[in-house]
Amino acid sequence: MLIKAENLSKVYGSGANKVTALHRANLEIAEGDFISIMGPSGSGKSTLLHLLSGLDFPTEGRLSYDGQDIYQLKDRELSAFRRRRIGFIFQQFNLLPVLTARENILMPLLLDKKQEDRAYLEELAGMLGIHDRLTHLPHELSGGQQQRVAIARALIAGPDVIFADEPTGNLDSKSGEEVMKMLEGIRRKMGKTLVVITHDSRIAQMAERRLVIMDGVVSEEAAKTGKEAVRS
Ligand code: ADP
Ligand code: MG
Repeated sequence: MLIKAENLSKVYGSGANKVTALHRANLEIAEGDFISIMGPSGSGKSTLLHLLSGLDFPTEGRLSYDGQDIYQLKDRELSAFRRRRIGFIFQQFNLLPVLTARENILMPLLLDKKQEDRAYLEELAGMLGIHDRLTHLPHELSGGQQQRVAIARALIAGPDVIFADEPTGNLDSKSGEEVMKMLEGIRRKMGKTLVVITHDSRIAQMAERRLVIMDGVVSEEAAKTGKEAVRS
């Protein structure tokens, strides 16, 4: 699946309160890409991710998935598209506190009136090391475990693309690294596209493509050495 952003802009407010959060972003994301996004606080990282994932509407510009302009879809079509094709991971995990880990993971399927695929759930739980945590409530889990549950939830409907907004921002460096390694492993094994916002330059270096955003303007770092340079 090819994602293409053309002159994508987002302006909040008007008059003296006008903020250009994103200014004319042009970007192509190919199937299987692993991209990191870095930039100072307030530079427009979350805005970009929300626009790329159909969570928010651009003020100007176009966003297409395989040629389909997703902002031309009706509300219900866009919601269904997001549920089926896109996984989103938040810094704050956003698990529902009254549901067990297993119920949280299965929530997207429930919303889509889909049957659970038990084998796939087992596979995800295995890869994320949360097998023995599935009957626990979020508050009974460590931060790293909660984020791994949230990753399983993002993957359960079999999306093509995973967007993560500072997924390790609430974790200590050790569990943050563990979570990122798992996410990267899953991306590689399952051939997913992964776009990650991070403050951590070590995490940014794991990615094959690195975007930097300053005052709403997106640029891409040139690929450096070795295998990174052979990217077509
Ligand atoms: P980052 O994720 O890089 O910290 P954001 O994308 O959240 O940055 O924000 C970019 C800019 O847009 C900031 O100046 C922020 O204050 C502003 N902004 C973000 N969301 C809103 C909103 N809903 N209303 C008004 N301004 C917003
Ligand atoms: Mg942000």
